[in-house]
Amino acid sequence: MKKYCDKCQKEYKPELKKCPDCGGKLKVKYTEEELCKIQKQNDDFTVINTLLM
Ligand SMILES: [Zn+2]
Repeated sequence: MKKYCDKCQKEYKPELKKCPDCGGKLKVKYTEEELCKIQKQNDDFTVINTLLM
């Protein structure tokens, strides 16, 4: 999992809450491999809803 800033179009460490460059909110970015694991592990829609928000 990585964090991503829309403004700077850069990826950051998942520990960061804000973008160190612009101070904006970071989006959570999952790799395709991680998305597959999450979808297999969760039968309910809780995680998918979280991803779409
Ligand atoms: Zn930024």
